[in-house]
Parts: sequence; C-alpha cells; structure tokens
Amino acid sequence: MTYDKNNIFAKIIRGEIAAGKVFEDDDVLAFHDISKAAPVHVLVIPKGEFVDFSDFVDKQDSKKVAEFFKKVANIAEILDLQKTGYRIISNIGADASQTVKHFHVHILGKKKLGALVVGDLAH
Ligand code: 5GP
Repeated sequence: MTYDKNNIFAKIIRGEIAAGKVFEDDDVLAFHDISKAAPVHVLVIPKGEFVDFSDFVDKQDSKKVAEFFKKVANIAEILDLQKTGYRIISNIGADASQTVKHFHVHILGKKKLGALVVGDLAH
C-alpha cells in the first residue's frame, strides 16, 4: 500500500491539525487519542512515512526500530503507567480495523483493561 501524505497523522505531524502532544522529538510524536478507550490513551507515531507496523519494520533499520520502541516505553513512564501497568496495541490492515494508515502504537492505561480481543473466535 502506498503512503497517503494527507492522512490525519501526517497532518498532525505537519501541524495542520492540532493534537494534545505528550512527547515530541525529531523522530517521534506522541499525542492523546481524540476518542479515548481508557483514561490514558496516547498514540505514538514515527515522523517518517510508514503505512503500518510491517511497513515500518521493513523500511527502517533495526536500530531505528529499537529506538522507537524504547521511546514508547519512556512515554509510558512519562504517563506514570509503570506501576499500574498498561497495554500497547498496533492495528495492521483490514482484519485489525486499522483506520489511520500511518503506523501508530496505542498506549492504554489507568484502568483495568478488558479482554484482549472482543468477539467470538469461532467466526
Ligand atoms: P486505528 O484504528 O487506526 O488503530 O487507530 C486510529 C486512532 O486514531 C483511533 O483510536 C482514533 O480515535 C484516533 N484518531 C483519529 N483521528 C484523530 C485525530 O484527528 N486526532 C487524534 N488525536 N486522534 C485521532
């Protein structure tokens, strides 16, 4: 899939759409999700053009991939989630219902999170 430079997160990176930023450096931006699924719901995105997790891992070298995930862990610390725990999720493609085609990791916390996958596994 080709990367759409006009997806919502690309616009947030360029500052064309406002977002409640919690962390930013040259490579990564983290901001509050507009539609919270938990008291803390933050999205972490690389600033490069990656459609999803697979695309990110394919195109970036291992050092950059590791740096990204270390920052995800640091952001969870900034959000004070270390003690109580949290969940990270990345939706990839149609079966995961990915809605924004720019790689992102959701960080969810500050509540007892429910089942990992909702629904009947038989279908
Ligand atoms: P996905 O379903 O692709 O894994 O997650 C996309 C997420 O982006 C959703 O949780 C959705 O609420 C969030 N989102 C969509 N549009 C915006 C926006 O304009 N601003 C912010 N902050 N979050 C958004």
